[in-house]
Amino acid sequence: MIPELSNGSVLMKDPQRVQEVLQSMLKAGSNTLQVISDFDMTLTRFSYNGKRCPTCHNILDNSKAISNECRLKLDHLLETYYPIEIDTSRSVEEKLPLMVEWWTKAHDLLVEQKIKKDELAQAVRESDAMLREGYEPFFDRLHEQSIPLLIFSAGIGDILEEVIRQANVFHPNVKVISNYMDFDESGMLRAFKGELIHIYNKREGALLNTGHFKELRSKPNVLLMGDSLGDLDMADGVQDMKNILKIGYLNDKVEERKKSYLDSYDIVLVNDESLEIPNAVLHYLT
Ligand code: C5P
Ligand code: MG
Repeated sequence: MIPELSNGSVLMKDPQRVQEVLQSMLKAGSNTLQVISDFDMTLTRFSYNGKRCPTCHNILDNSKAISNECRLKLDHLLETYYPIEIDTSRSVEEKLPLMVEWWTKAHDLLVEQKIKKDELAQAVRESDAMLREGYEPFFDRLHEQSIPLLIFSAGIGDILEEVIRQANVFHPNVKVISNYMDFDESGMLRAFKGELIHIYNKREGALLNTGHFKELRSKPNVLLMGDSLGDLDMADGVQDMKNILKIGYLNDKVEERKKSYLDSYDIVLVNDESLEIPNAVLHYLT
């Protein structure tokens, strides 16, 4: 049906279900489709030439806007908490408070740095952040077909927007739900706005944005893309959902996590740094 689904990077527990969902979505038409995607390590690359690529937070952590002393502390937090994030031997209940601790400590450190709003663009420009291969046709096609794209990220909204703006793909059909920075009158970071979004509370984040999902009530078919099991909750605010196709990037700890990803995502992409599969699905559906 979609030749790319036979690629070596593609794993599916139930290809029959994938086929049925795709056919049902095709029949309903592209005007009933919405896309909900995570950002870090889903729309952006996990690695390039064997080197890890940065998340939104890492873009700032590694930038000139941060002192060396603070960078060491942020690196230490990453070394402490990232292994917990991807640890399959701990339950979500066990990990959740530790993730809140990570985000809170990191945001507190960032606020201490008196970061200026106008330093963000440069931090992004000088970073190694890269959108996945095939990002242009992905964003452009969704725009051309007027398909809404919700980017739902536990990263930093201001940084994320800057990444897609610099890549010239921040089209009007893109809406972002994320952690946004709060700047004072002089343009200095003083806090983060609203409720914290971390990787395990995207359900709550979705339910706080009922207005957005209400507007999209005529689009009950959802293509969901993520790289963490927490991303599966991003569509919890969708009203009267008819079909959902979940594509999951399995970037790290592949063998340990393969089973749980196959149990929760319809299509699992292993060590795949491109958007080839989402693009092939969109090509089929639109
Ligand atoms: O966009 P997404 O929801 O994927 O963003 C969350 C990611 O940001 C997490 O997977 C986590 O590894 C990363 N993170 C980070 N530094 C922090 C907090 C989270 O790199 N201080
Ligand atoms: Mg992610």
